[in-house]
Amino acid sequence: MTEATGIVGEFLSLKEETDAELLAMQCGDFYEFFDEDAEIVADELDLKVSQKSSHGSSYPMAGVPVDDLTPYLKALVERGYRVAVADQYETDSGHAREIVRVVTPGTLLETTDADAQYLAAVVAGGTTDDYGLAFADVTTGRFLVAEATDADEALTELYRFDPVEVLPGPDARADDDLLKTVRERIDATLTLHETEAFAPKRADHAVGEQFGRETVDRLSVGDPAIAAAGAALDYVEETGAGVLASMTRIQAHHGDDHVTLDATTQRNLELTETMQGDSEGSLFETIDHTETSAGGRLLKEWLQRPRRSLETLRRRQESVAALSTAALARDELQDALGEAYDLARLASKATHGSADARDLLSVRDTLGVLPTLLETIESNPDLADSPLVEIVDRPDREAAADLRGTLEEALAEEPPSTVTQGGLFRRGYDDELDEVIERHEEIKEWLDTLAEREKSRHGLSHVTVDRNKTDGYYIQVGKSAADGVPESYEQIKTLKNSKRFTTEELEEKEREVLRLEERRGDLEYELFEELRAEVADRAELLQDVGRALATVDALASLATHAAENRWVRPDLHRGDRLEIDQGRHPVVEQTTEFVPNDVRMDEDRGFLVVTGPNMSGKSTYMRQVACIVLLAQVGSFVPARDAEIGLVDGIFTRVGALDELAQGRSTFMVEMSELSNILHTATEDSLVILDEVGRGTATYDGISIAWAATEYLHNEVRAKTLFATHYHELTGLAEELPRVANVHVAADEQDGDVTFLRTVRDGPTDRSYGIHVADLAGVPNPVVDRARDVLERLREEKAIEAKGGGSSEPVQTVFDLSSGQFRGEASADGGEREREREREPETTDAAIDPEAKDVLEDLEEIDVNTTPPIELVSKVQDLQRRLEGDGGE
Ligand code: ADP
Repeated sequence: MTEATGIVGEFLSLKEETDAELLAMQCGDFYEFFDEDAEIVADELDLKVSQKSSHGSSYPMAGVPVDDLTPYLKALVERGYRVAVADQYETDSGHAREIVRVVTPGTLLETTDADAQYLAAVVAGGTTDDYGLAFADVTTGRFLVAEATDADEALTELYRFDPVEVLPGPDARADDDLLKTVRERIDATLTLHETEAFAPKRADHAVGEQFGRETVDRLSVGDPAIAAAGAALDYVEETGAGVLASMTRIQAHHGDDHVTLDATTQRNLELTETMQGDSEGSLFETIDHTETSAGGRLLKEWLQRPRRSLETLRRRQESVAALSTAALARDELQDALGEAYDLARLASKATHGSADARDLLSVRDTLGVLPTLLETIESNPDLADSPLVEIVDRPDREAAADLRGTLEEALAEEPPSTVTQGGLFRRGYDDELDEVIERHEEIKEWLDTLAEREKSRHGLSHVTVDRNKTDGYYIQVGKSAADGVPESYEQIKTLKNSKRFTTEELEEKEREVLRLEERRGDLEYELFEELRAEVADRAELLQDVGRALATVDALASLATHAAENRWVRPDLHRGDRLEIDQGRHPVVEQTTEFVPNDVRMDEDRGFLVVTGPNMSGKSTYMRQVACIVLLAQVGSFVPARDAEIGLVDGIFTRVGALDELAQGRSTFMVEMSELSNILHTATEDSLVILDEVGRGTATYDGISIAWAATEYLHNEVRAKTLFATHYHELTGLAEELPRVANVHVAADEQDGDVTFLRTVRDGPTDRSYGIHVADLAGVPNPVVDRARDVLERLREEKAIEAKGGGSSEPVQTVFDLSSGQFRGEASADGGEREREREREPETTDAAIDPEAKDVLEDLEEIDVNTTPPIELVSKVQDLQRRLEGDGGE
């Protein structure tokens, strides 16, 4: 094949220059994709492929109009492609093209999604286990660095920010586990950015240049975080998004003031999406009443990053309290916020140079919201006394008013969406422009009245003056009158019923109109660019104002939800006490007649073993506690009649691993690694929620692990723990370990019908509940008796030691599974009893016919705790039928 030359050749050589997967090259009014790129794009976006021949070869070609590139780019990038864009420019000898931008998921400015859009960089510490991370949102200019002490924590941060594109540093690339998990858990494009960008010196320099040396030093983060930040900046610059200037501030996320909330817990508590991956039904969606997308983003961030600082939380509470009382003023604030646009996004667009006149109008209007908020707040006694005043007062209001004034004076009320055709500015903004416009209007007036003048001057009828592309301005005279036109008329066209003429004077005016129109366009564009640059210069101010509006929005949203759902302000303190009176689950209460429940935990009652039949509400109860604590540490009110909450430093959960199952990972392995993480990371000040431990393995294996984990959590970790278990044996621990208490979710059985009361009561549940239900359901007595017998035997096979905490002497207590009692020591006759038992089965077995024996075996296999009641009933019916002799094919 001959080497391509011409346009295709140029395309192919530009393609060599970039590592982007696709190249869109401008050719006049189109952006064209050639060769393989054309095929891919056509396939993805349903475009038509044509053929472009170049020197004897033919190449596939697909194109989109220049003005339509954005939606196509967005669609390609959202499908995970990196797309290079080459623009055409004029040269002395014609056209040339160069790559001006590489659009990637993390640097896409044209997003229409309200969510944050983070580009992340992850750098491994090299010699140590730690990681540094940076997160940049080019659409808002937000830039953060974070540090993590191990891969798990790094993953937690990644999960929290949910980036769309991740740049792993040179070391992190070798970390298969981390990358694999990123691929599995986070829907992000992994991009290998050049290694040099991660080099400590170069990165440090880049970060210093961007944010100021002093700021960077004050952050006091380690090299890996700086390397990540530097690489992210470098990448943003290299892709040509042109938004570096909107990144005005760098923030560091240190762990101390934040509640640890690992990725698993964020998912288990369904903070931003349900286990099924829907945003509807998540905690965020439920409590979100924000008016603006920036407010929504902030509220989400608050939920994902609960705080530990009592001061911060109390300040938020005070605002929420004031706002929830002052309902009318809150409405006013929300109305005002409804007029606000996304200032951070607009600031980014201004710095990038893509903001149009309407965007600047949005800036103007949104800046105007700030004083309205302040007015409303100051004129309401509740609000005037709250920290809201300070929030709204924080941005430089004078500078904001100035900028708003400038925009107000400059921009026309309804400017067009193009910025090159004039019509953008108000009169009085620029003298030269005013002159041009005035002169233009004079001539227009002359042209508009020309027809009338010509009619009367030359006694003509049927005269019109108009303009089109080919003929320019013309005087059109009806056929009947065309013969009477004066000498000075020069005919330019004959139509069916009329003729078109021009005159010297008309031609001159036409030239002037065109000249003025061009001048106006140029002048307005120049002025507009200046104005846009002025706005871009104030990016930081816009971000400040945006932040203030978002904060008021998020707080008002919390207040709205509290007021509408009768939530209360929790009493926060630094102690161990957790008392929730008549608490509800924030999400479940929306759709269910919810039965409220209490929780009482303190220094002497720090570990609750939660029992109750399957589907009784154990899991809901525990999640409710976790959600209430989490909401309290967001500064929100909580769904309860009254709540006293000791602040926690972390919330850890492990619950049924549905999604892992779907991903084909071993549930038991996942379960154990989650447990391991909790045992390692939780502290005395943490809240731990365990929804079944040990289910994924054989009974004795499982029970042993659950048992040992309970002891460890109780004695060593000493975290506040709620542990739901179907191992009834664990309820015995309450008598042995001082801080363990039993609670159960009550259920009622009447005539075989089980009614779930959803009420949590002190004490353990009835341990033989399953068999009891079988009995009530009408299972024949021999089967029920035999089931009890089997259960008894299962229990006898093992006794477990409970190790008491605190004292130096381990307490040699033995839990006798046969009696359900604790004994001081293994009794001397234990061996004898065991031997007796071994002989027992033969005699019992012999008394039962083979079919019944099968039935018993099947019965034994039914797990009454996991089988849904309806299925349980049908299984039991099936067993009955088999006993009666007509079942079982
Ligand atoms: P378990 O963990 O015991 O199997 P779940 O917590 O999953 O039970 O609850 C089972 C069902 O009961 C769920 O549909 C839940 O919405 C409902 N439920 C749980 N607690 C309550 C409550 N306090 N009030 C009303 N409905 C509840």
